Amino acid sequence: MVPFMVERHMDGAVLAVGHELLLGHTADDNAAWLGARFTEAGGVMGRFAVCDDDTAAIAEEVARLVGMGPSIMFTTGGLGPTWDDITLGGVAQGLGLEVEEDGAALEMIRANYEREARRGNVADPALTHDRAKMARLPAGSTPLPNAVGSAPGVRIEAGSTTIFCLPGVPEEMKSIFEESALPAIRDRFEGREIVQREFEVAGTDESTLAPYLVAARAEFPDVWIKSRVRVMGSGFAIRICLEGPAGTRVEAARAWLEPRLRG
Ligand code: ATP
Ligand code: MG
Repeated sequence: MVPFMVERHMDGAVLAVGHELLLGHTADDNAAWLGARFTEAGGVMGRFAVCDDDTAAIAEEVARLVGMGPSIMFTTGGLGPTWDDITLGGVAQGLGLEVEEDGAALEMIRANYEREARRGNVADPALTHDRAKMARLPAGSTPLPNAVGSAPGVRIEAGSTTIFCLPGVPEEMKSIFEESALPAIRDRFEGREIVQREFEVAGTDESTLAPYLVAARAEFPDVWIKSRVRVMGSGFAIRICLEGPAGTRVEAARAWLEPRLRG
């Protein structure tokens, strides 16, 4: 029997923090985006988690995910100035670190509010208590510039895991990822590639494809193969996705499977 899941080591994990995610008010697009970008950079994304804006829950998830040994971990959300933005306290607790005011982070926040005042987005750039709160970082961490919003991102080294804490606002999250996280990720996974192929079979009943998919899994056990059904008018289209690290036989599996499914 071929195991259902392809055995892979895990390079990356994402913890998305936010009560609105659990209510279903906001879909966790940040994790999906990070998964796609991480895979493009050659990393194997191993786990997504979502939790409430709750210090104990964040601490528990951080400890659990770091315990799985990813090279890179991301958190998104909860870096802002409001009462429910408590991610950094939770991360610190999960790692057994104190939280301290960071001078460089404070300077970034000051400059960000001055920039936003010049753009007409804030009336007064003064460094209030609520704004200064965003400079309280886990001890030993590095603040990362935020070219779009006010809260700096944060980089923390936790044993062999590098944690990037990114804001929840997707535009800010992406900007800090591109500027500060991606170069480090590219360095770490240099020369690695995740190969992905897909093709679509129209107007078919998925059950008639099942025997071929089982046979393909037996033939190419190192390749992830997934059929994804989509309703199309009154019929169905089935997209076949194949994926695996470079060196696995993704292209060979596609060449084997496609003519059989098109029958
Ligand atoms: P802010 O400085 O705006 O407070 P933040 O880092 O504290 O940013 P949140 O307050 O958690 O982030 O979320 C800000 C916005 O980003 C909200 O509109 C929220 O719905 C959206 N958001 C948060 N997390 C995600 C996610 N995982 N995927 C998509 N959108 C998200
Ligand atoms: Mg917030």
